Amino acid sequence: MNEKDIEYFREVLTNHLEELLNHADNTVSDMTAPKENLPDPTDRASFESGRDFMLLIRDRESRLIKKIKMALDRIEDNTFGVCETCGEDISIARLKARPVTTQCIDCKTREEAIERARGL
Ligand SMILES: [Zn+2]
Repeated sequence: MNEKDIEYFREVLTNHLEELLNHADNTVSDMTAPKENLPDPTDRASFESGRDFMLLIRDRESRLIKKIKMALDRIEDNTFGVCETCGEDISIARLKARPVTTQCIDCKTREEAIERARGL
């Protein structure tokens, strides 16, 4: 991978990280909306399930944030784009589709096949 590709991925990952961090802030302020504004129990229930949903989203987001930070660390270490399983280069096309990936398509496919075989 050349310097230009590295810069491209650094920018994509940094922008995505900022987006997620900004969004996480918004979610927090939404969640602190006082319940007293919802006297109807039905409204309250939908507020509660909405909050569960948001927590689920936030959980997924925080995991993605972690993955993006790890990808940025790999850029700093010059190990970005190298498959952590076989050590081969991950294709640029695959990285563009999923910049946080740590495995080449062969290893990923093999791993998924094994997981499926285990019934996971
Ligand atoms: Zn691999």
